[in-house]
Amino acid sequence: MRLHSSLEQPGSPEELRARQLRARDMLRGDLDGADLEAYVEERLVVTTLEKVLNVARANSIFPATFGLACCAIEMMSTVSPRYDIARFGAEAFRASPRQADLLIISGRVSVKMAPVVRRIYDQMLEPKWAISMGACSSSGGMFSNYAVVQGADKFMPIDIHVPGCPPRPEALMYGFNKLQKQIMGNPDPGWRSRYQAHGTEEWARGGPASQPSDEAAAAYERAREVLGA
Ligand code: SF4
Repeated sequence: MRLHSSLEQPGSPEELRARQLRARDMLRGDLDGADLEAYVEERLVVTTLEKVLNVARANSIFPATFGLACCAIEMMSTVSPRYDIARFGAEAFRASPRQADLLIISGRVSVKMAPVVRRIYDQMLEPKWAISMGACSSSGGMFSNYAVVQGADKFMPIDIHVPGCPPRPEALMYGFNKLQKQIMGNPDPGWRSRYQAHGTEEWARGGPASQPSDEAAAAYERAREVLGA
C-alpha cells in the first residue's frame, strides 16, 4: 500500500475544472468504453492508507467544549437539531482537551486568557486543528486595545478563519466543511487561484515580481489620489 502525504496538492484550477467536467459526464452517463474504465481505475488505484485515515479523521472530529464570548452561543447552536453538525460527525463536544481534536476559538481572546487557550491547545493530542471563529478571535475585531489579542494566530496555529460578528452557525459549519476538505488533503483553492489573482497583493506592497497590468496600475494610482497618499 502506498503512503501519501496528507498535504497533497489538488492541482491547478484548470485540472480541477477538467476533473469536475469528467465527473459530470460520468454522472450523466456520457462516459463509456475506455473513458469510463480510465475514470473508474483512477479512483480505485489511488486509495491509500493515509487517505483512508484522513477520511475517518475528517468525519469523526471531537471539538473541545470551550467558548470565550458571544460567538460561543452561535457555536453551541451548531449541535441543535436546526443545524445538526452531527451530519458531519462532529456533535460530540468533549470536556477534556485530551479527548478533543478541534479547538474552536469562539470569541475575543484577552491577553490574560491567551496562555490558557494555548495550554488547552497544547494538551490536545495530535493530529489536531483549530478554527478561529469571528472577527474578534481572527483580528481583535472591534477591540483594538491593549487588553485583547489582535488575532489568535499570534499565539497558536489556526487552520481556518471564519469571518463575521458573530458568524452564523451556518458560517461556522461552512468553515468546518472547509477544514474537513483540508484534512482529507483536498483543500478548496483560495480566492487567488479561483480568480487567477496571483501577485496582486505583492505588487501593491511593492514586492519583488511586481508588474501590474495597465488597468491595475491606473486603479492603484486612483486609489492613492483618493487617499491623498
Ligand atoms: S466577533 Fe462579535 S460575536 Fe464574536 S466575540 Fe467578537 S463581538 Fe462577540
